[in-house]
Amino acid sequence: MKTRTVELVVAPGSFHWVGDGFRVHTFIPDSLRINMERMNPFILMDYNPTYNFPASDIPKGVGVHPHRGFETVTIAYKGKVEHHDSSGGGGIIGEGDVQWMTAASGILHKEFHEKEWSKKGGDFQMVQLWVNLPTKYKMSEPTYQPIENLAMSRYKFDDSEIEIIAGEYKGMKGNARTFSPVHLFNARLKKNSGTEFDFPANYNTALLVIEGKIMINDTETAPADNFVLMANNGEQFNVKALEDSVVLILSGEPINEPIAAHGPFVMNTRQELIEAFEDFNNGKFGYLED
Ligand code: MN
Repeated sequence: MKTRTVELVVAPGSFHWVGDGFRVHTFIPDSLRINMERMNPFILMDYNPTYNFPASDIPKGVGVHPHRGFETVTIAYKGKVEHHDSSGGGGIIGEGDVQWMTAASGILHKEFHEKEWSKKGGDFQMVQLWVNLPTKYKMSEPTYQPIENLAMSRYKFDDSEIEIIAGEYKGMKGNARTFSPVHLFNARLKKNSGTEFDFPANYNTALLVIEGKIMINDTETAPADNFVLMANNGEQFNVKALEDSVVLILSGEPINEPIAAHGPFVMNTRQELIEAFEDFNNGKFGYLED
């Protein structure tokens, strides 16, 4: 088995606001080095590093908007988010929870800080990933999977644990249903503990350091809020915590189909994007109250 080496360590650069509730840096796509194909099936990663929101009686967030052709996966580390969509899906996620929304043929949704949390305010830290869908599932029915932290499978060792959101780690399986092979874990590692990961070499693989500081393959270090792109040159790598750390680990089999993306739609062709805009403008994505 060959070692998978570090290709790139990226510190967050510029930030932008998604609505007024999410202050994010976009690691995928990164206009300079990492395009949607490079980390496919993970075609977008927005990261909101810890940011303190003052108390607000009016919850901050992003109002009704559409998606088609992929899945949005929101992972909460601090703060609470409330979600509603036009297919009837919805819920609140808090620390450690994940919401896995399959937009597929199309939904409208809105994403806001949870009302009571918003009234108090506080530290907020979140990741939103967009996971692409294979062509044959792009126009399937939308679905919503709440994945509560307490229900996650955990591989435990040395006071550390790997929370398995999707895929499999050392024989333990995550709860999320996926449409192509995807592994998504939170490694919660105590200082000086470490473990190895093993994915097929062609799976696009990256780490996001949520907290602490890590060493990869006993050679390269990455501090909190940094994104680590792994090369596709081997299967195995190890991660060791230099401080108590939390690391999001993602690895997925590339979907070898063309990507046509514009705004909230990710399809295979330009024509399908035009149809998505037409269907949205004709009210075919359903209805959701503001
Ligand atoms: Mn959205």
